Amino acid sequence: MPELPEVETSKRHIKQYLLNAKILNIKSFVSKLRWEINPDIKKIFNNTVILKIDRIGKYILINTSNKNTLILHLGMSGYLRINEANVKKIKHDHIIMNIECITGEKKCLIFNDQRRFGHIDFHYTSLLKKHFLIKNLGIDGLSKSLKYDFLNKIFLNKTIVIKNALLDQKIICGIGNIYASEILFYSKIHPLKRVNNLCKNEINFLLFNINVVLSKAVLSGGTTIKDYKQPNGKIGYFKQKLKVYGREKLKCYDCSSIIFKLNINKRATYICPDCQKNKLVN
Ligand SMILES: [Zn+2]
Repeated sequence: MPELPEVETSKRHIKQYLLNAKILNIKSFVSKLRWEINPDIKKIFNNTVILKIDRIGKYILINTSNKNTLILHLGMSGYLRINEANVKKIKHDHIIMNIECITGEKKCLIFNDQRRFGHIDFHYTSLLKKHFLIKNLGIDGLSKSLKYDFLNKIFLNKTIVIKNALLDQKIICGIGNIYASEILFYSKIHPLKRVNNLCKNEINFLLFNINVVLSKAVLSGGTTIKDYKQPNGKIGYFKQKLKVYGREKLKCYDCSSIIFKLNINKRATYICPDCQKNKLVN
């Protein structure tokens, strides 16, 4: 599913067109994706101006001049694209937002989602943090405030394993299954190590690599495993740069040991047994 880098890539691309654009109308061709779509969305956003486009974790947030924020989640298979106005709809195009860009050009933002696990909703901007999808999110994976003291405080009293901690959106949001494996490989930490057993150096190295892996992936336009596309129609090129994820039975690029897969909490986790053997001190 799209994780922080894919969502950030999408956000950066659509921002070029959406910022300061006027929303002419929003058309929804389904009544529900993962959840029901509030039918008021059409009338609430007509003729509003887009003031700001943000992201937290895997959510894109679009602030408009009527003091509301549109909340978009790409789900498992969703992607966004920008098209000329009145372009012919293709299969799984569920939501189309027609806009007039600041240049006067008319374009549209299209939300395509084959598996329909995505979501679109809205809330008052001032109360956004109370929205059911946003209120429990932890710190964003690329936030500058994500530092040692913050993470150490959380990890100190927890006995969960680090792989699960990285996936827990209430601690750090935006990291999913692909990047969790990659970050742990870069950090030379075994995914089953319990977070309260991580030493200061390990936490600092982990923080460094969260930033390195997510930033590098953003620069590559994200990772395409199956459906994900950048809004310009290209795939994400970080797949070619993955060091462990999806590389079961292949040689580690660093030490030539064979990468293996283990399931943690029913999620595939890829590991180099030699690079990440510092581990199971429980
Ligand atoms: Zn290795």
